[in-house]
Amino acid sequence: MIGRSPSYIERARLVTWQKARFVPLDAEQYRRSPSGELITEMPEVIPAGWDHEHCMLCMTKIAQLPGCQREGYSNDGGSLWLCVACYERYVSPSQKTE
Ligand SMILES: [Zn+2]
Repeated sequence: MIGRSPSYIERARLVTWQKARFVPLDAEQYRRSPSGELITEMPEVIPAGWDHEHCMLCMTKIAQLPGCQREGYSNDGGSLWLCVACYERYVSPSQKTE
């Protein structure tokens, strides 16, 4: 497929995926001065500031937002996401054979 790197697909196949519904998380942000120094010692919390993820293969947005997919597959810890279409197309067939 054009635009999909085979190495990313290989990496995706090594991950144990679980179907998951994306839930916005609070984001934490440290204020910094223009020169990069921390201004505050404690992070500011931005409620639901982490509001979307992207499929690691096709970059589809997974978010609790209108017009976005709300479900996908995530790894343990939720740092990687796959959309349902990519999971079924690229990963699911390889994991069923084990
Ligand atoms: Zn995808």
